[in-house]
Order: sequence, then structure tokens, then C-alpha cells
Amino acid sequence: MSTLQDTLIADLLHASLEAAESGAPMSPAISPTSTFVLPGEPKGAWQYGRMSNPTWTEIEQALSHLEQAPTVVFPSGMAAIAGALMSNVTSGDRILLPSDGYYTTRVMAERYLVPMGVEVVYCATADIAGHPLDGYRIVYIETPSNPGLDLCDIAAVSERCKLTDALLIADNTTMTPLGQRPLDLGADIVLASDTKALNGHSDALFGHVATRDEGLLERVREWRKLIGAIPGPFEAWQVLRGLQTLELRFERMSSSAMTLASRLHELHPTLKVIYPGLPHHPSHSLACKQMSGFGTLLDIEFSSAAKAEQFMQVHRYLVPATSFGGTHSSAERRARWGDSVAEGFLRWSVGIEPIDVLWEETVRALSLT
Ligand SMILES: *Cc1c(COP(=O)(O)O)cnc(C)c1O
Repeated sequence: MSTLQDTLIADLLHASLEAAESGAPMSPAISPTSTFVLPGEPKGAWQYGRMSNPTWTEIEQALSHLEQAPTVVFPSGMAAIAGALMSNVTSGDRILLPSDGYYTTRVMAERYLVPMGVEVVYCATADIAGHPLDGYRIVYIETPSNPGLDLCDIAAVSERCKLTDALLIADNTTMTPLGQRPLDLGADIVLASDTKALNGHSDALFGHVATRDEGLLERVREWRKLIGAIPGPFEAWQVLRGLQTLELRFERMSSSAMTLASRLHELHPTLKVIYPGLPHHPSHSLACKQMSGFGTLLDIEFSSAAKAEQFMQVHRYLVPATSFGGTHSSAERRARWGDSVAEGFLRWSVGIEPIDVLWEETVRALSLT
């Protein structure tokens, strides 16, 4: 029996072609234009390139379909985060950020929100569900967190936010809309860096914000128009193309990550392997409840930086690089960016390489580490 999600994915591929006339191109057009022909009083959908662009509209429709919520696209994940936060906070507000999430979100808050008079409180992802939420304008979560892969119960936090009138924003980068649906679990806004698995080919930066609240949507759209943090039509087209294979890639990558994590744990029980799919992960039962699959990221904590570097260096199928979610397996020591993790902590972004080859090479690299 096909699921609702299966229908969503099949419809995603076909939606834009349903009304196509004979001779219409299968692939959407790229519209590189800064302006549109506009006689008389300004009216209609196409006026100026900072306000709208037909290729953005294509990708926004596709993402809206996937999120089941109106979507606004941005030129990067950070631009999406800035849009969601900046359009909703003002001096005197208090917001909660994860202390162990994507580090640039915290740097941005310290550099721009704190001097503006916003009080920023930090809490570890695993502790947010138990943190008192009275008096917060925004509660911002990232689950599983990057890089530690800790979880937070989205539905439980959402219920508490509703009691205290806080806006719940969820960064869903690590799971994509196919792996986790924060809006269905009660979040007010979901956002993501589509630079990662959603586009998935390591060839474009992109981001999006989605919400079912008209007022919030309008504020985010207005922010983009006035600040000018707009994506390029070429990147919008690249992400449209990447999106067509998201399900294939995400399934392969997540299943390989699960296989690698469990085999690694079996072969080297003393090696610290962190993956929400492993039964001993502290939030494994929550992962089973709120995620479909366990994601494409896998953490390994080696006993030293040198060992982690050695493993990456001898592994033929691990590109040493930052970022994640691409077709190629890649890895990095997160301590090099200042994340509060052990020196030997490696974040592995599992790619689409056939699993047996990946596993055999992993065993070989470990034997040389
Ligand atoms: C990468 C990342 C971002 C930032 O995205 P960019 O596209 O690099 O701007 C935000 N949140 C998370 C969880 C990320 O991994």
C-alpha cells in the first residue's frame, strides 16, 4: 500500500506538468531577469526581480508541496534563519537557542540580536523539552542537532510553546521534509539549509522557510523583499533538479548510515558511534516516534584528533570537507570550527556509494587507524 508520503513524492515530480501543453519543455525555465515589462500602475505578480522571479515560484511551489505549507526561498540556510528570526524579534524579546546546534546561528544571535536588545538564552537540545518556557518570544530548536545528533521532542515543546504563546521555529536541515515534519508536530515555522541533502549535489547554497500561518509568512516574505536576501534563478533551478532525486538519495544515504553505524558498533564496541538509529542512542525511542528513518549523518568519536585525521586520510571514499548531505561521503573533525565536541569527534556525511564498498573501505581504514 502506498503511503501519503509516497503520493507526495510522486505528485512532486508531476505537479508542474499537469497543465503542460503540447510542446512544453519537461524541465522548468530559468528566468535570469532583474525586471519585467510593466506599463502603467505597478500590478501583477511580476514587477521587479527583488520581489519575485518565475524560477523561485517553481521551487517555492515544489517545496510548498513537500512541506504542505507555503514556502519562501532564500539564498542560503543562514539567510533563511535570519529571515525567520529577524522578522519576528524586537528589542526586549527573549529567545531560546540550542547551545549545541549549528554554531553560526549562535554567532549571528550574539553579533546582531544581543546588541539590538534581544535576550538570548541557550539550552542543550536534549534538555529543551524540560526547560521552563515562560516569557519567551521564540523557542528555536534543531533536531537532530548538528553535529552532536541529540534530539528534542518537537510535539512536547510545541504544546508548551502554545501555553506560553512562544513561536516555535524548527531547523529541519538534518532530516529534510522527507525524514521529519515539524509543522505536523506543532512547530509554527520550519526552516532548512537546502545546501545540504535537499539539493544534495554540493553545487549550490540555498534555504527555505515554511509556515502555515499567513501573518508569519507575510513577514518573512516582506523581510526578503526589503533586505534583498534573494536567491538567484540559476540556484533555484539547480535545487529543483536536486529535489527530483531527494527521496532516492535520502533513503540510500540513511539506510547506509544505519548499516555503517550498527556494523561499526558491532565490530568495535568500544568506539563511540553516535547515530539516532542505534538502540543505545539516548533518544532512540523519540527518534522512532518523530522521524522517518534516522538521517544521513553519523558521528564517530576517536580517541584523538590524529586518529580521526588518519581515518579520513586513508579512507578512499571520504572527502575531507565541511558541510554535508551531498552524494559523496565526506567527513570532518568538528572541533576545528570550535564546536564543543572532543578533538577526535568526526561528523560523517554518508553519501550514495554502494554500501558494501563503503563498509569494506571503512574496515580497511579503521585497521590502519
Ligand atoms: C549548514 C547549516 C545551516 C546554514 O546553512 P547555509 O546554507 O550554509 O547557510 C543552518 N542550520 C544547519 C543545521 C546547518 O547544518
